[in-house]
Amino acid sequence: MSNKHFATRAIHAGQEPDPTTGAIMTPVYQTSTYVQTSPGRYIDNFDYSRSANPTRTALEANLASLEGGKHGICFASGVASLAACIHLLSAGDHVLLCDDVYGGTFRMFNNVFEQLGINFTRVDMTNAALTRAAFTGKTRLVWLETPTNPMLKIVDIAMVTALAREKGALSVVDNTFATPYLQNPLALGADIVSHSCTKYLGGHSDLVSGALIVNDDDLAARLHYIQNAVGAVPAPWDCFLLLRSTKTLHVRMERHCANAKRIADYLADHSRVERVFYPGRSDHPQHAIAAQQMSDFGGMITMTLKGGLAESRTFLESLRLFSLAESLGGVESLIEHPAIMTHASVDADAREALGITDGLVRLSVGIEDADDLLGDLDQALSAIRTATPPAYKMAARS
Ligand SMILES: *Cc1c(COP(=O)(O)O)cnc(C)c1O
Repeated sequence: MSNKHFATRAIHAGQEPDPTTGAIMTPVYQTSTYVQTSPGRYIDNFDYSRSANPTRTALEANLASLEGGKHGICFASGVASLAACIHLLSAGDHVLLCDDVYGGTFRMFNNVFEQLGINFTRVDMTNAALTRAAFTGKTRLVWLETPTNPMLKIVDIAMVTALAREKGALSVVDNTFATPYLQNPLALGADIVSHSCTKYLGGHSDLVSGALIVNDDDLAARLHYIQNAVGAVPAPWDCFLLLRSTKTLHVRMERHCANAKRIADYLADHSRVERVFYPGRSDHPQHAIAAQQMSDFGGMITMTLKGGLAESRTFLESLRLFSLAESLGGVESLIEHPAIMTHASVDADAREALGITDGLVRLSVGIEDADDLLGDLDQALSAIRTATPPAYKMAARS
């Protein structure tokens, strides 16, 4: 299967017809344990469902194939995948974290693992010199996201993973925003790829799940050990739903990308919009790197509106098709306000430095009809204008 194209692997990798019935879909093996014929004699590695479950095994093989990796290891959530990577470390170790990360990633390092003696530094990984200078003698792991969340900065994966290798640190790339359809970090030198499967891989906003994909056998064995020993495994039913979802990942991503491109161009020309961040536009600061390491530019758009919190609120409350919600990557369009919603756990100074202002909003462009989405944005942007009281009315009130 590894020599087949992405769309074929998405539908078939890891899945054979069920040997007992011929069922074409891998069944939901909703079982906690397996009967042994003699003490210690059981089929494959199926002795207990935390350790292994056939629905999960099929999903792990499918995701590994999509990333061009050898081993997939699935978890109950994206942050559980992150935690499994940190369980590879010991007290006293140091982690380099890209500055603009998922809010929950920062929170875990800052509020959970630092107390256990694992230190971290945030650095702008779009800058090679700053990144090199941030390594300490104790740096054992480098964690990066690209495109970053929410600023959609693009980090040069090959550059940072080469630096990590030179310094003897493991590199992890959180590939949630790009998905394996647009970007394959293992081929660019990463040791581990991390996913929140909750987002595009799941794609239907109906489950929470995570995964790691690696090539190295020893690293896979250590992560499988942690998966079982720490125990944040996904349920068989969620694995089944994910297997169902990855079959359409390529088709969904093509539409996400096409819709986002049109919307980004529309927003960039709008008079109420200060700035659009979309890696597919030539005015994006790292557009060239995006074009090099991604096959298309994804469904996420971030923009700053002119004005402040009042204007953002009017805009967000006026949308009818875009739903105001955290999360991303589903078939339906979502929008959110990072400073108040997803990135509230990031300290105010860091938010300010990154540009996460009151005027910043993040769009997860769905796969609805693009004209309907444009119409919705258009009417909500117009609402800002009418909601702002003209100067003479303000004067009359005071
Ligand atoms: C959502 C998200 C996570 C966390 O995943 P959960 O499934 O919510 O635990 C990690 N990284 C990125 C980039 C995300 O968007």
